[in-house]
Amino acid sequence: MRAAVLREFNIPITVEDVDLLDLDPHRVLVQTKASPFCSTDVTSFHGNLGKVPPTILGHASTGEVIEVGTQVEGIRPGQRVIIPGTPECGNCYYCGIGRPDQCSELFDIGGIYPDIARTAEGLPVSAAGCVGGYAEIMNVSKNQVFPVETDLPYDVLSLLGCGITTGVGAVFNVAKVQPGDSVAVVGCGHLGLWVVQAARLAGAGRIIALEPHAGRRSLAGELGATDLVDPSVQDAADAVKSLTAGRGADIVIEAAGSPDAQRLALEVSRRAGTVVFSGLDQAGAEVKLPQIPLAVQSRQLLSTQNGNVRMRRDLPRYICLLERGMLDAKPIITSRYSLDDINLALKKSENLDDLSGIFVF
Ligand SMILES: [Zn+2]
Ligand SMILES: [Zn+2]
Repeated sequence: MRAAVLREFNIPITVEDVDLLDLDPHRVLVQTKASPFCSTDVTSFHGNLGKVPPTILGHASTGEVIEVGTQVEGIRPGQRVIIPGTPECGNCYYCGIGRPDQCSELFDIGGIYPDIARTAEGLPVSAAGCVGGYAEIMNVSKNQVFPVETDLPYDVLSLLGCGITTGVGAVFNVAKVQPGDSVAVVGCGHLGLWVVQAARLAGAGRIIALEPHAGRRSLAGELGATDLVDPSVQDAADAVKSLTAGRGADIVIEAAGSPDAQRLALEVSRRAGTVVFSGLDQAGAEVKLPQIPLAVQSRQLLSTQNGNVRMRRDLPRYICLLERGMLDAKPIITSRYSLDDINLALKKSENLDDLSGIFVF
């Protein structure tokens, strides 16, 4: 199969033929139909997330099942499936307490992802994040394959493995936004724009978008933000206070990734408010936060991986919202690429020229 292989950090990714390894009894082969280029992979490309080359990036995808291992039940060739960035093994401690977003099958393997193929010269190639969506075929654990019944196009479905689940899940599962709440969203990229849409669905009274990029800020307005703030020219804390009776936002969701953005999120929240961190800068990054807003002023500081979703419960809900047009993927999908465009997609993501660029196969 053809795959985009990261051979070395900071060196253009090569699209090459690789040989898939034999299918393990517990794994599934999926014909890739669409994979979104995720901004996280810019960080991985630069070697800042601990990936080990040669590897195939792309940590969320969608496609059609080709073949299932001999021990796989409930998944059949021909099914349309979502391959999210997080498996749900159903057996580990975290799956047992209803937190499959922390499933041991991903988080307790020490960052060593399974080899799924070999290069022409015989080097083993892993699937980064256990998915490897930037390739014609994915070889994935059965616990990472979620069949769906919907006629939504694959490019839209591909966003359910990372962007939609993280953004929408942050609003409903983590922040638990109530009708009338004031919600500030720090960062309106591909993730924050899903947060804005979900906050509108939740009935937020005010949705305040904090975003320096003019195009993204105005799109946030089109998708439901009631107030737009440019934190690069305005004092964001003053602006948010003036919109919330001098208090700060009831709920703040950070969707930008940098430690600065996370500090800003705390700064624009009200006393006893809720702050949710969902972005990631790079492995080893640290956030320094003032103590008074957290201790004396009792803000609830939460964080989330993949929106704390449970795929079997939340996928059908989010698909229903997409089908009814209550969540809109159209403005989020800004480019469609073939696999050969991988380095262009990377550059456009890094330059903020794309929200979500999708590889279609
Ligand atoms: Zn992602
Ligand atoms: Zn598990």
